[in-house]
Amino acid sequence: MKNKTIYGTKEWASRNENLIKGCSHDCRYCYAKSMIIQHKNNTKENWKIEIVNQDKLKKGFRKYNGMIMFPSSHDITPEHLNECVTFLYYILKPGNNVLIVSKPHFNCIKEICDYFNQYKDKILFRFTIGSSDSKILNFWEPNAPDFEERLESLKYAFNAGYQTSISCEPMLDDKIDQVITQVSPYVTETIWLGKPNKLNERLSMNGFKNDQLTMGEAQRLKLLFSDEYILELYDRHKNNPKIMWKDSIKKVVLMNKLQLKSQNIIVIKRI
Ligand code: SF4
Repeated sequence: MKNKTIYGTKEWASRNENLIKGCSHDCRYCYAKSMIIQHKNNTKENWKIEIVNQDKLKKGFRKYNGMIMFPSSHDITPEHLNECVTFLYYILKPGNNVLIVSKPHFNCIKEICDYFNQYKDKILFRFTIGSSDSKILNFWEPNAPDFEERLESLKYAFNAGYQTSISCEPMLDDKIDQVITQVSPYVTETIWLGKPNKLNERLSMNGFKNDQLTMGEAQRLKLLFSDEYILELYDRHKNNPKIMWKDSIKKVVLMNKLQLKSQNIIVIKRI
């Protein structure tokens, strides 16, 4: 049978669960926002208004094989923390393993850590941190917590004995090593690195097509993440067992490996 390449959230979990439509973080590059606008199920103006799907709080869960990722198309924000905690309880109660993915608000993470103490071994946190510069985070992810709050959330979960990991996808500047250095002592599992995906398409769909500032910053990122930069990044971290490479980086490395192979020079040992 032909091997199927697994990418996107499927690389992380076999199932996604969501409770809320919309996300107040309102990230400029948001994939979920662009998809929902494309399918005409929401507008760019209304995306930041969060609406809880009450029906999902009425039905129970069964035990599934593999990891369940929650959430994948919104975030856990203070406004709907109680509903998210209830929903998480429904998922965890039958014995499921949950990957909680978030641009974390400290109070939300503290509440979850404190409340789910007895489910600790069933929870893996994955906090998204694409830059250690809060100004950059604030530009791309205007209503999400700053770097310091995300780091504090990570420390809290780590010190409370939870499994922790980081997603640096999308990377939002060329100083991702600073994120890696600062988070590493508090990461029990993995740190995922990835370039922004389909940035121009998503920004256009999300209403930034004629916004020169946003499109200019997108172009700047595209230039920053040249193949040369990615290969150097790979080289610096290829022996770090915590670092994982998303598809956007694997492609560049593999392409380069093929080119080197065709010249009978093999320098890249692991992806
Ligand atoms: S936090 Fe996630 S779901 Fe929310 S707007 Fe940002 S990218 Fe989209």
